[in-house]
Amino acid sequence: MMLPPNSVIGIVGGGQLGRMIGVAASRLGYRVHVFTDRADSSAAQITNRVTVAAYDDLEAMRRFADAVDVVTIEFENLPVEGLHAISGDVPVHPSPDVLAICQDRLAEKRFLQNLDVPTAAFAGVSSAKDLESALAGVPAILKTRRMGYDGKGQVKLDADADPVAVWDELDGREAVLEGFVQFERELSVITARNAAGDMASYVPVENRHEHHILAKTIAPAPISDDQARAAQALAERIAEGLDLVGLLAVEMFQTRDGKILVNELAPRPHNSGHWTLDACLVSQFEQTVRAITGLPLGSPVRFADAEMDNLLGDAAEDWPELIRRPNARLHLYGKTPIRPGRKHGHVTTLRLPPLSR
Ligand code: AMP
Repeated sequence: MMLPPNSVIGIVGGGQLGRMIGVAASRLGYRVHVFTDRADSSAAQITNRVTVAAYDDLEAMRRFADAVDVVTIEFENLPVEGLHAISGDVPVHPSPDVLAICQDRLAEKRFLQNLDVPTAAFAGVSSAKDLESALAGVPAILKTRRMGYDGKGQVKLDADADPVAVWDELDGREAVLEGFVQFERELSVITARNAAGDMASYVPVENRHEHHILAKTIAPAPISDDQARAAQALAERIAEGLDLVGLLAVEMFQTRDGKILVNELAPRPHNSGHWTLDACLVSQFEQTVRAITGLPLGSPVRFADAEMDNLLGDAAEDWPELIRRPNARLHLYGKTPIRPGRKHGHVTTLRLPPLSR
């Protein structure tokens, strides 16, 4: 079943990922309907079909479901109840069950463990006492099970850490303790999967973080072909294990002895895939649209190597300079006001040979 052009794609979430899915969808002739909790959100700016309501407003979610032909999401920390409620009436990709796994770090780690996918050592922690007994070897990182992203809800523990004080810092939220990984580099792989089980993976990329926020992505990652194939195979095994329809980003650590450990999953387009907009035949956003509408997946080949730099906070104010850069493509998200650490845009620099007209 292929959804024909002019069908309506529903996107839950108002961020820049929703905006870029929407742009890709409209290029393929689809209508876009955004469900967002803010009328002027980044995604709402690009379409005249917008539902503005709280994400747990079941009534509004049902009306939204009636108005669209397929539903996708652009961030995973949504209440799954509403999506469960509409999933009998309209296809929801990724499924609410996939979201439930990916929004809970402990469920996610256990799921990976059941698939025999290597991760950092971990333990569920529900009290200061749990934390004390789980702290076998420091350093370690304590992360809240839910609602953590960009380093929020994370505390690093070293040898002199006081478990009671650290536990109090998390305000009693359920958590996961993870062994600290001495990594060589951070990688990610983005894989698309459709309902027929076809899959297509982009080349693994290297990600550099500053203050826990992605700052730069280098495509491809400077790793061997064997390592690249192993990383892609891992991502595809996870996408199959989830029975995912849509896109899966898998964040990984490459350790100093060459092992790959999976850190985190995101069942949606990912910041580390923004370079595909400018360097690949089919971007991660178009690939999402293809996967959820039943169109054939596109080729993930790239025609240039690339680097993507995020424009965090007032870095986006450099746009008059960035727009002049050779071999660079500027993307701005329309997000106001400017706040430190907030993602306002990105710039992708293509590694191209000299070109002629
Ligand atoms: P996360 O929210 O899990 O993606 O973590 C954000 C960033 O914190 C990661 O991209 C790493 O740079 C760092 N980090 C997270 N978990 C670990 C770990 N177990 N060991 C070392 N660094 C970590």
